Amino acid sequence: MIKKNIAILGSTGSIGTQTLSVISEYPDLFQVQVLTAANNYVLLIEQARKYKPLAVVITNEKYYSVVNEALHAIGIQVYTGAEALVEVVKISSIDVVLTALVGFSGLEPTLAAIKEGKTIALANKETLVVAGALITRAAKENNVKILPVDSEHSAIFQCLVGEQSSAVEKIILTASGGPFLGKDRAFLSTASSKQALKHPNWQMGDKITIDSASLMNKGLEVIEARWLFNVDVRQIDVVIHPQSIIHSMVQFKDGSVKAQLGLPDMKLPIQYALFYPNRVENNHPRLDFDHFSQLTFEKPDREVFANLDLAYKALEVGGSMPCVLNAANEVVVAAFLKQEIGFLEMSDVIAEIMTKTNFIKEPGLSDFLEIDQVSRMYAEESVKRKRTISSTNF
Ligand code: NDP
Ligand code: MG
Repeated sequence: MIKKNIAILGSTGSIGTQTLSVISEYPDLFQVQVLTAANNYVLLIEQARKYKPLAVVITNEKYYSVVNEALHAIGIQVYTGAEALVEVVKISSIDVVLTALVGFSGLEPTLAAIKEGKTIALANKETLVVAGALITRAAKENNVKILPVDSEHSAIFQCLVGEQSSAVEKIILTASGGPFLGKDRAFLSTASSKQALKHPNWQMGDKITIDSASLMNKGLEVIEARWLFNVDVRQIDVVIHPQSIIHSMVQFKDGSVKAQLGLPDMKLPIQYALFYPNRVENNHPRLDFDHFSQLTFEKPDREVFANLDLAYKALEVGGSMPCVLNAANEVVVAAFLKQEIGFLEMSDVIAEIMTKTNFIKEPGLSDFLEIDQVSRMYAEESVKRKRTISSTNF
């Protein structure tokens, strides 16, 4: 196998660190060329000393000098600011850009990397949620592969190997249901961020963990699947599968259903994307059916977890609506984590902002940047109003 040069955007996060750990298992097969972080300069410096990339980005300018002082002397270029993410992906020797940034921040660097013809290993689902049409068009024009890292999409991708896309009847995304599976609205109205951050099966960054508890993560994944696999919204179903062993399924036109199974461990989908189309050996723990005698399935409760319906609705409306959904969601998740609003209020704010923002049918990059800003502003105002009401209501 030829050595691959890789840029890891968001190397200090949950996906970023697991990617480095997969790469460490195959030291002769990868050369890390770029590492990036927002604030965690301590870990970024540590990673850079170990993997010796050509360049690092610390987007928060406050930490630029400390990172530069540590790394310049050993020949590593240090950049700062969000714009630097768009520049570093253009380094000509990079083959693969693994996008593990959170939220809208992934859009511009991913688009820039696609325009440079880099293969994308995509963890940052929000990029496809916000601008799926734009991103997939750019990928087609530049003959670029977008390889899914998200476990459900990796599962679907694996089920589709050797199949014709016209043979797909539907995609069935599995969802663990998160820590609040089976809870009612009364319980959720007082649920805390501490409770929501306790995911039963996965260890992930805070934003996606809250999204998993509210089922917004599954909603975002429905939109991600629509663009990755070029299927209609009516061809995407969600089923709750609390054990997270079946990572997702594809149903074909002859009624056959294929599934991909494995332990809930992101290293497998990361490894599959990094080595695609090859499968390589590893010594990770194996699925032992003695420990999983029951795999169960149930319907998601769309009344209690309104976010799933909001995401389907945003996808059906199309155009700028998924961008609005994503921006409002980023604001409410941050507000919930700071205990500024309650768990159920997150969906209320998103629904409100989706009716408020001007609709654009075919947005371009500059439209997305503006829609994101405006939707965030509306969502922040709405959060503020909710805080004022709740503080005068006791
Ligand atoms: P984390 O919060 O753990 O890590 C995010 C990384 O991006 C960190 O390196 C962080 O830097 C950096 N970052 C965050 N915000 C910005 C920003 N505005 N500008 C520049 N850099 C930024 O997230 P995860 O690894 O959990 O998730 C990454 C992406 O992968 C998300 O889109 C998520 O939905 C997706 N994903 C994650 C899974 C998981 O298991 N974690 C599973 C499937 C998908 P710093 O450390 O300095 O804050
Ligand atoms: Mg997932």
